[in-house]
Formats: sequence, structure tokens, C-alpha cells
Amino acid sequence: MNILFMGPPGAGKGTQAERIVEQFNVPHISTGDAFRLAMKQGTPLGQKAKEFVDQGLLVPDEITNGIVRERLLLADCEKGFLLDGFPRTLQQAEALDAMLAEMGRGIDHVVNLHVDRGLLLARLTGRRICKSCGATYHVMFNPPKVEGICDKDGGELYQRSDDTEEKVGTRLDEYISKTAPLLEYYSGKGLLREVNGEQEIDQVTADIAGRLRGSNE
Ligand code: ADP
Ligand code: AMP
Ligand code: ZN
Repeated sequence: MNILFMGPPGAGKGTQAERIVEQFNVPHISTGDAFRLAMKQGTPLGQKAKEFVDQGLLVPDEITNGIVRERLLLADCEKGFLLDGFPRTLQQAEALDAMLAEMGRGIDHVVNLHVDRGLLLARLTGRRICKSCGATYHVMFNPPKVEGICDKDGGELYQRSDDTEEKVGTRLDEYISKTAPLLEYYSGKGLLREVNGEQEIDQVTADIAGRLRGSNE
């Protein structure tokens, strides 16, 4: 199954992707994770991406499309994939359509996690991530059992440098001007599955799984 997760920063895409890939047995491809890894390793890609990520701006399409293309060609994507945080512009959506057409494939479902803007700042500023496995927590809404430590592997939790109030404002503006218009693009193709992302984490997972399995359409 070929799935896209859309929604503003903080909607819960990463949190839900961790759970859905286990149920549906497809790889989780997050362009944000790919950029953070490249930045940490200091590769040429990471150095280019850093200028934009650090400011809360979208990385240019050519750079982003290139990493997705390479990733989709790896063998584990043959069984399907879950793309989280890509596409984020109309140009990226069109490039993705072209890549998939070349591979003789298509998108099955575009899940949109709807969360009101007023909730996103609290979600993003309280977010914590495991240094070793990337699992996502929240200091209030989804705390680990021991403060600052990952439940799964004991890894240390950190805060993303773009999860500050100032950067969140820029990221939400980028979302509204460049990414939100994609919802119409996918709804026109009959692919959009709207899910209420303001519910409890488990309920959101259940709703997404239901939509992907074709129940409660
Ligand atoms: P995204 O990948 O869309 O940017 P995340 O999955 O990282 O969003 O979630 C952002 C923050 O909100 C994290 O700290 C996460 O623990 C928390 N969160 C995710 N889903 C929910 C939810 N349904 N209710 C409350 N908090 C949530
Ligand atoms: P995320 O982890 O999805 O919140 O993404 C973190 C940052 O990575 C974003 O603020 C952008 O700077 C960059 N990024 C991630 N995905 C994309 C994309 N599809 N297009 C452009 N920039 C992206
Ligand atoms: Zn961990």
C-alpha cells in the first residue's frame, strides 16, 4: 500500500507513522528525518538543507525531490511505503506523480490529520525525540515513563532546534501558503482521507487504520 501523511507541523504525522508502519508493514519515509540525519552527519546535502531547516523554511524542491526519488527506488519500497512530510508543494506532488508513474505505481491513500492551529504550538514546543530510535514523545500529552528517557531503548530525549515558538510561526506560515493547497489537489483525485487528529493518540491510529482498510469510508 502506498500512503501519504499530510497535515500541519505538529499534527501527529510522525507519531502515527511509527504505529501505522508496524500494522501495515511498509517503510516509513520522513523527509524531515532524512534532512536531520544528513545535517547531523554534515554531508553536502545536510549543509544545503541546514540553511532552510534552521529558519523553518521549506528546503527547495529539487533537493527534496532527489532524496525521495532515491529512497523510493530501494528494494524495501516494493511492498509499499508511507511518506511522511512529503510532498509539501504542488511541484513536489507533481514530481512524485511522475516518479511513481515511471515505476508503474500510484498513491492509494492520502491521510490528512486535521488539527486546529491553536493546538499546534503547545504540541511542538513540548515535543521530545529519542536520540537513538527517533521515537516521539510530549512532555505533557505523551510523556515517557522516566523523564528525558525513551521507553523503548533507554535513549536520551532531545528537543528539536526548530521547535521554538519563533520557528513554529514560520513553519506554520509555510504550511498554509505552500502545503495546504495540496489538499485540494488530492481531494480532486479522490485520494483524500480526512482524520480528526485532535483525538487521543490511540483513537487517531484506529481511525487511520480504518480508513486505510477501507472501512468507515
Ligand atoms: P508531526 O510529525 O506531524 O510534526 P508529531 O507526531 O511529531 O507531529 O507530534 C507533535 C507532538 O504532538 C509530539 O510531541 C507528539 O507526542 C504530540 N502528539 C501527537 N499526536 C497527539 C495527539 N493525538 N494528542 C496529543 N498530543 C499528540
Ligand atoms: P518535519 O520533520 O516534517 O517537521 O520537517 C522539518 C523541516 O525539514 C521542515 O521545516 C523543512 O525545513 C524540511 N522539510 C521536510 N520535508 C520537506 C519537504 N517535503 N519539502 C521541503 N522541506 C522539507
Ligand atoms: Zn528510543
